[in-house]
Order: sequence, then C-alpha cells, then structure tokens
Amino acid sequence: MASRTTTTGAQQLAELIASSRSTVALTGAGVSVPSGIPDFRTPGEGIWENVDPMTVATIDVFHRDTRRFWDFYRPRFQTLGDKRPNSAHRALAELEELGLLEAVITQNIDRLHRSAGTRSLVEVHGSIATSSCTTCGASWPLEQVEGLFGADGIASCTSCLGKVKPDVVLFGEMLPIEAIEAARVLAESAELMICVGSSLEVFPAAGLPELTLAAGGAVAIVTKGPTPYDDDAAVRLRGDVAEELPAVLGALS
Ligand code: ZN
Repeated sequence: MASRTTTTGAQQLAELIASSRSTVALTGAGVSVPSGIPDFRTPGEGIWENVDPMTVATIDVFHRDTRRFWDFYRPRFQTLGDKRPNSAHRALAELEELGLLEAVITQNIDRLHRSAGTRSLVEVHGSIATSSCTTCGASWPLEQVEGLFGADGIASCTSCLGKVKPDVVLFGEMLPIEAIEAARVLAESAELMICVGSSLEVFPAAGLPELTLAAGGAVAIVTKGPTPYDDDAAVRLRGDVAEELPAVLGALS
C-alpha cells in the first residue's frame, strides 16, 4: 500500500476491489437513506413516526394483537413499496455485472438491491417482497397483500383463513438459518468485505467482518457514523454512500 497520500479513498477501495479474487458487500440501513428510507435507529426521523417499532413490529404483537401489528405495518408496506434504488444500490449491481462482486449481504428488507439489479443477494432479515400464511404457507407478492385485508384490518389467507405475515424477521423472531449460513460462508471466503451504510452493531452484521478478518481477508467501510471495525479497516470512507460508491466504480473503469 504505497503512496496513500496521493490517492483518494475511492481510488484505494477501487484498487482493493481490482486485486481481490473474492469480494462481498454487506449493507445496512444507510444504503437506503438516499432513497428516502430513514434509518429508524436515527432519532427523530421517519416513516416510523412516533411509534417505536420494537414495541409493535414484534412476533409477539403479531400473534397477540394482529390488528395493532397491521395498523403499523400496512402503511409501512405502502411507503416502502414506492421507494426506488439509488446510485449506491446501482453501483453494487454494476460491480456484480462486471464480475467484481460476488454477492450482497443485506440487513435491509426494502427490496431495493433486487430492484437495482443485484442477482446474488442474501437478505438476513427477510424481505417485504412476499408475505406468507402462518398456517398453510401460501405466499403472496407485496402488490397482492393489500387485497388480503378484511374489514377487521387483518390480512388473512384466501384458502385457509390463517394469519398472513410479512416474510421479514420481526423483533423476537429467529433469523432465517439458510440466509445466516450463506452470509457466514461468503464472509469467510471473502478476500475483501465492503461494509456499506451499516453501524455493524447488530447481529448478524456485527459478526461478519470479523469472520473475513479472521480468515485473512480485508474489510473496507463506507458509512458516515462510527463502527466497531474502524481501526481494522483497510479503507474507511465517510461520505454519502450515493456518492462514494459511484466514485469507486468510476475509479475502476
Ligand atoms: Zn393458509
């Protein structure tokens, strides 16, 4: 790593990507902020308005007070369903297209990586893309869920009348084992993990960079706020993700 002083951070990250045989991206809420989806952990912002999601978007409330759960989640579906990917999502899709990125692991449930064109995607907290019947397993795409609501304000299965639940991981629910395992394998085999828009404080994202580092790989961090891995990062970019990632992409071409 010579002449650090003469290259920009974006150029440094571009060089790391170019020389890595296996690169994965790990993304969090920050990658969707430029799309108009605030990080609910940021105080005073949001589509979460005055409700603490940790008291409503829980598996316990879903079962015990399903109407209250949907009163909160139904408008959220509408809000998220209208959002579009931004240049950070698109830059990651482009890196994959160029053969420079193996996969994106995301904590986000908003479908925006998929909308941007990312094909190899691991959604560790699930996705709003579908909702499923908790009794018979029948599944509906987001666009059809609105049609499942009855006068009681609850989405019910059209065949067995069971409760329909978004295929996202609610507070108090187990993480999807297959996705966690896929993320672990990707992290361990990566020569480079690019962490984008995540504070890397919440499991499983918090533990993944450590797997890459332990296996001899490098970690790059592109996010505004501090992370527990800042001292271990080979490159640390602190600008807007929607500007930093296109700059990295530009430095590669
Ligand atoms: Zn059913």
